[in-house]
Amino acid sequence: MNAPNSFRNQPPTGANSFRQQPDSRGHFGQFGGRFVAETLMPLVLDLDREYRAAKADPAFRAEFDDLLEHYVGRPSPLYHAERLSDALRTGAPAGMGAQVWFKRDELNHTGAHKINNCIGQILLAIRMGKTRIIAETGAGQHGVATAAVCARFGLPCVIYMGAKDVERQQPNVFRMKLLGAEVRPVTSGAATLSDAMNEGLRDWVANVHDTFYIIGTAAGPHPYPELVRDFQSVIGREAREQMLARTGRLPDMLVAAIGGGSNAIGLFHPFLDDPSVAMLGVEAAGHGLGGSEHAASLAGGFPGILHGNKTYLLQDEDGQIAEGHSISAGLDYPGIGPEHAWLRDIGRVEYDSATDAEALDAFQLLCRTEGIIPALEPAHAIAAVARRARTMRADQIILANLCGRGDKDIFTVANALGVAI
Ligand SMILES: *Cc1c(COP(=O)(O)O)cnc(C)c1O
Repeated sequence: MNAPNSFRNQPPTGANSFRQQPDSRGHFGQFGGRFVAETLMPLVLDLDREYRAAKADPAFRAEFDDLLEHYVGRPSPLYHAERLSDALRTGAPAGMGAQVWFKRDELNHTGAHKINNCIGQILLAIRMGKTRIIAETGAGQHGVATAAVCARFGLPCVIYMGAKDVERQQPNVFRMKLLGAEVRPVTSGAATLSDAMNEGLRDWVANVHDTFYIIGTAAGPHPYPELVRDFQSVIGREAREQMLARTGRLPDMLVAAIGGGSNAIGLFHPFLDDPSVAMLGVEAAGHGLGGSEHAASLAGGFPGILHGNKTYLLQDEDGQIAEGHSISAGLDYPGIGPEHAWLRDIGRVEYDSATDAEALDAFQLLCRTEGIIPALEPAHAIAAVARRARTMRADQIILANLCGRGDKDIFTVANALGVAI
């Protein structure tokens, strides 16, 4: 019997499986790859080799499973949100209004799904004999998760964070420091997430002998999009098993919020070969897709190369990367993981968006109907769920990933609602 989180506990892949991407050079169709400077190439190839070996090593998998269970708190529950389902059914035609279920990844240690990936990558770093960890962070959630695993394994940790984000996200900056990390503000460019990631890649080239770069989403040069997906796929593997055990069937639709796309691909991937399961990724539409104040790379961007991979990017006509906007700092990455770009182009996954205002409404609705304060990122997914549920039959099931909790967002929400706290 395999442990519930085991890499081996995957549904089988057929010859035409959607789950056999990427190819050996990291291509998801025309997307992905490893567009890096020559000096970075040996590091990336070395990481690729080590990752293949780790993936095939039962001891590596056993340690990953053990930490997810006892440090992270997995498996996270699968929860039937009955009062939310009822509320969304109000005003829907008779017999309409799907059942809404949540994968409760907001209950993980450090408050979001990010920790799943950090555990996997730090084990890889240790396996490779690296003694120093670096990471980039935007809102600070990936920085906090990285700082936590570094403390847990006694490794020094440097977090690159845009200077603007350092100012906006003081509580998370303080958390990282409490956990022993050094936070380095990045002042280049727009001084936000994208610039922090550039700085991380620069540090990695300069310190390759001892340093491991823990990337926080399913982007970056191959093999990062693949390995982040694999580590986050514990979300979908658990959810698939739990849903079958609880209801005897698979969900009709999966929904997840998209920043770079790691929690979404983690939920979607184990279901990609189940043709009856529809999937919806939800980008941040900020102040609306009509203007430039949003972070919807698929809806409003076009293909280009950033951070070592080819994907859809928010950019101007000269190819300059545009700064994304969202009320949720975790969603304003100007790109999207290459696997999503491919899944959208082949039509396997549908992508939609939700505005700041819609996310705020969904945030409050979940608070009041279920007693759960979500992060603003999954509030975007819930906004899309609210729209879709009433177009589906009452016997159908929507499963959404509740990828983070809202403690970090209460000041932003209070401010948006005009409340002084
Ligand atoms: C970081 C973060 C996101 C966005 O990242 P993905 O890689 O798209 O998952 C979404 N939700 C929460 C709670 C986050 O912390």
